Formats: sequence, C-alpha cells, structure tokens
Amino acid sequence: MAETHNATANIGVVGLAVMGSNLARNLASREGNTVAVYNRSPERTDLLTTEHPEAGFVASKSIADFAASLQKPRTAIIMVQAGRGTDAVIEQLTAAFEPGDIIVDGGNALFTDTIRREKAVRETGINFVGAGISGGEEGALLGPSIMPGGSVEAYKTLGPILSSIAAVVDGEPCVTHIGTDGAGHFVKMIHNGIEYADMQLIAEAYDLLRTAVGLTPAEIADVFTEWNTGELESYLIEITAEVLRQVDATTGEPFVDIVLDQAGSKGTGVWTVQTALDLGVPVSGIAEAVFARAVSSKRAQRAAASALPGPSAQWHVEDNDAFIEDVRRALYASKIIAYSQGFDAIVAGAEQYGWDIKKGDVAKIWRGGCIIRAVFLNRITEAYAENPGLVSLVTAPYFTEALAGTQDSWRRVVAGSALSGIPTPAFSSSLAYYDSLRSKRLPAALVQGQRDFFGAHTYKRVDMVGTFHTLWSGDRTEVESEGSSH
Ligand code: NAP
Repeated sequence: MAETHNATANIGVVGLAVMGSNLARNLASREGNTVAVYNRSPERTDLLTTEHPEAGFVASKSIADFAASLQKPRTAIIMVQAGRGTDAVIEQLTAAFEPGDIIVDGGNALFTDTIRREKAVRETGINFVGAGISGGEEGALLGPSIMPGGSVEAYKTLGPILSSIAAVVDGEPCVTHIGTDGAGHFVKMIHNGIEYADMQLIAEAYDLLRTAVGLTPAEIADVFTEWNTGELESYLIEITAEVLRQVDATTGEPFVDIVLDQAGSKGTGVWTVQTALDLGVPVSGIAEAVFARAVSSKRAQRAAASALPGPSAQWHVEDNDAFIEDVRRALYASKIIAYSQGFDAIVAGAEQYGWDIKKGDVAKIWRGGCIIRAVFLNRITEAYAENPGLVSLVTAPYFTEALAGTQDSWRRVVAGSALSGIPTPAFSSSLAYYDSLRSKRLPAALVQGQRDFFGAHTYKRVDMVGTFHTLWSGDRTEVESEGSSH
C-alpha cells in the first residue's frame, strides 16, 4: 500500500466495507476527483486498491497519513458501522483535522446522535455533516439519494462533490441540503420508515391475490409488472415482481415459498416509530409495518395460536379482474397515507428541531437512487410546490381526488380481508386513519370524559372558552378549572 504525505486528494473515505468501497469507487469515477481511502484493518484497503487500480486511490495505513493526503479544507466521508465505530473515527479525525475541515458521517446514524456529534465537533472549528445515504450497495456505487444535514457553509464545499455522485433524475442530482445538524439523518430515518410501510403494503397485496384469488407467485409477478406501468410504478413493485418470479433451484418451488416467513429489521423503522411517538405524529402505516415484522418473528406464539378459530367462510371472489383492480387501488390509497404520515413526521421534526426542510425537495431527491424511488413522488413535489403550507398531503387536490377514486375499493378489500381472516394490518390501519382524519367528530370527546372522571384531567367545551372539570365523585356539577386541558 502506497503511503503518502502529499495532499493530492480532494475527498476521502474512511471505512471500506461494502458501502464505503462502493462510494469511494463512485467518487473516483467522477471527473476531477482524487480519492483518499483508509480503513481500520489495512486488509480491506489493500483489497480495494488491488481490485480497482483504475480508481487511482490514495491509500493510507494511518489516520495521520490519511489526513496528510487530503487537500485543505479536508473533506472525509465516514462509512463505518453506526454507533461506537462512528464515534471512534470521529475522535481520530478531529484530532488529525484542522478548523474549517469537513467530516461527513454517511452511515445510518440516529439523528439525535448526529445532533450531539455536530455540536461537539463544531466546538473544535471543524464542520460535521450527518448525511443520510440511501440505495444500498448498488446505489453507493452507481448513484445514491443523499440527504445531507450540517451547516450551510459546509454544504458549499460538499454540495458539488455529493452532486457528482448522486443519482440523477430529469437532469437533477438526488441531493439537497436538508437542514442543519441532524436534519439529514432524520429525513433518512423517515425514508426508511416509509420504506417499511411500502414493503408491508405490497406484501399484503400479494397475500390477498394469493389467498383470496389463488394466483400463483408467477401470476402475481405478472400483475405487479402490469401495475408497474401505472401510478404505482416504483422500484419496490419492480423488485417484488422479480422476487415472485424466482424459482428455487433446489426444490423447483417458488422462491417465496421456501423462505422462512420471519421478517428481520435493522432498527430504522423502530426509530421512526419511536420518534413519531415522541413528536405525537400518527405514523400508523409505518408502525403496523414494524409490528407486522415483529409478529412474523414470534414463532412460539404463532405456533401456539395456529389452532385459534378463523372465519367459517372463505372469500368468494366472483370477478378476478375486478378484485385485482380493487387490491391495486387499496394499495395506492394506503401508500398515499403512508407517505402523508411520513411527511407529517418530517414537518413535526422540523418544527421541534428548528430545521427549514423543503418537503417538495425531499420528495424530489427520493425519485432516484433510493429504495422508495417512485414516479408518485413527483405528485408530492407538485403538491408542496402548489401549497408549501399544506397541512396534510391527503388534502392536496391530486391526492384528495386519488383517494376519492380508490376509497370504495379500499373499503371492500379491508372489509373482505377482515371477514375472511386475511391479515391486512397496514391496509386496515391506513383506512382507519383516513376515516379518523375526515370524521367531523371523534369519540375523543368520550375519552376526555373518562380522563376527567378518573384523573380530573379537565376538558374544553365545544360552546365556551375555558377549561372545565366535572365533580364526578361529588354532585357532578361542572367547575371552571385553572389548569389546561391536556
Ligand atoms: P458495516 O458492516 O456497517 O461496518 C463495517 C465497517 O466499519 C468496516 O470498515 C469496519 O472496519 C468499520 N468499523 C467498525 N467499527 C470500527 C471502529 N471502532 N473503528 C474504525 N472502523 C470501524 O459496513 P457497511 O455495510 O459498508 O455500512 C457502512 C455504513 O453505511 C453503516 O453505518 C451502515 O448502516 C450504512 N448504510 C449501509 C447500507 C447497506 O445497504 N449496507 C445502506 C445505507 C447505509 P474493519 O474493517 O476494521 O472492521
């Protein structure tokens, strides 16, 4: 491995596992970039430089050499295991770097960790940028969707470099400065949460077509391929068709039938739901998707419960084509809800943490490179362009109309699945959310009554200003309360 102390590289990558290696190769393939690379274990660095001599990497065996190989202001992207690995590398880089240099964490950090790290690193005069990078290993190599946070000043240097490696849609790179400190990682987290919901919804659609109509995986693959030519066109629908078409070489069975039905997760869906709970934002579609994976993994409970009674009647589908169209519409409607809820979480996070996040730009940079890339995101960008203060995506004319055109199908599918015992947690909860949102009056009034009864939590009246409490254990007269109703 060649050691260098000449500052010849304009960008560096620390952490050369699959993501870091691919990102470094992507950077090196772009005109004008010379890429410095460093990994804790030198074997990975050797492997990368040996396998890709064309990249012209400037490799180092120590952080000090790595820092010396970078032009000032130095810019380094960390792609190591999120958590302690990131903290360890930040500590080493802050010791080797100087004020004005830029450290970028491209890993999957929790946004609150990014806020903490940005604050600590800023005190040294070094810029710290938490950047969400989506698209997996292929995206890292060919063009990811990038969601950088950090200071506006750091983005001036970083923006052109990130733009050069990002996916491009309609001539625009899928990267934008999301907001300060942890905003980028926050938006990446919500992206992943939406991804959970999108995947679960597609899985429920598959289950309905398989269980209620009896289509084979290959036939469902054809249905999805057809859907992929319309408003549902997306990477996830496309790859789902490919997975369903796959046949197991050992058994000759459909691949989907030989895979254990226990879905794993790495935790970003859980973070999204935990954060949304803290912010008081209903992200029920995402939450149901996270819970659905949890239920799938409860093997002992599922085995014990498999003897529980189900409905006596099977779903009798009379018209297959009409049913398939109903499921397509139900999927589209539920998907609108999942995205609407995800954007609500972005709005609430921006308000809580003081970020000026442009929602339309977020939808725009998700159109390419990332897992939830979809044609549909254009409609979200347009909705926020028409009305930047939109209170909910579902109230944008395009989406209101889309829901009006799909809701009857959605209701038939949810009702039918309940009657025939096919679990559709994400379809059902999305519909319940839609109906809750549009209800003129919710039973929350009764809940307030219950809360006032047992805990004197007070309530507000529909016809008078003020906060009230009923003397439930006394003569049940109403008194005006000093405290606020909450
Ligand atoms: P990874 O398996 O998450 O991490 C392995 C890398 O971290 C190795 O380079 C390892 O160095 C380094 N590392 C771990 N602890 C360290 C420490 N204490 N000090 C220095 N280096 C340390 O790698 P990955 O899958 O390429 O992912 C990198 C980052 O990108 C992660 O944050 C991940 O969450 C994020 N990400 C991954 C994907 C994906 O699809 N894989 C997608 C988006 C984002 P050694 O070689 O010395 O062990």
